[in-house]
Amino acid sequence: MEIPLEIVDKRRIIYYTILDKCYYLRNEGDIMDNLIEGLKDKLKEKGYKLTPQRRATLDVILDNQGKHLNTEEIYGLVKDKCPEIGLATVYRTLQLLDEMQIISKINLDDGCSRYEFNTHEDDHQHHHLICQNCGNVIEVEIDLLEQLEEEIEKNHDFEITDHKVKFFGICSKCR
Ligand SMILES: [Zn+2]
Ligand SMILES: [Zn+2]
Ligand SMILES: [Zn+2]
Repeated sequence: MEIPLEIVDKRRIIYYTILDKCYYLRNEGDIMDNLIEGLKDKLKEKGYKLTPQRRATLDVILDNQGKHLNTEEIYGLVKDKCPEIGLATVYRTLQLLDEMQIISKINLDDGCSRYEFNTHEDDHQHHHLICQNCGNVIEVEIDLLEQLEEEIEKNHDFEITDHKVKFFGICSKCR
């Protein structure tokens, strides 16, 4: 059985669908360069620059996809790259990137703001499975809600643009 490329390596696909542009896939470096160029343009449109501090913050998020780092964790990792950076700068950068929908803030009910790279602006947010024992967070990449969405849209005359779904339970390692 042939598995579609997007499932084999979804992270790769993410990189070049992000800004609704088609990018050639030659090597990881090319994808990152294209991604960063696209983000630079996006920031420039709004009158912002991709400063080294903003770049370092973004790099930390990109390097840690799937980890849902919180502000302090991101700050700690950015500080390794830019030792002079302050928490307030990282905090403001995260807010800016969130406002520009480059990253999204996620709330996993543990009392802190966590962030992840926004894979596609028009995409519906993936679901998070949260282990109530160890706190591990597992991502479910497929939407699975299309039928429910259709029904809600029909019955409530409501256009659904996104959803945030969290499942709480016990992960396989904790059983
Ligand atoms: Zn959906
Ligand atoms: Zn667990
Ligand atoms: Zn996630």
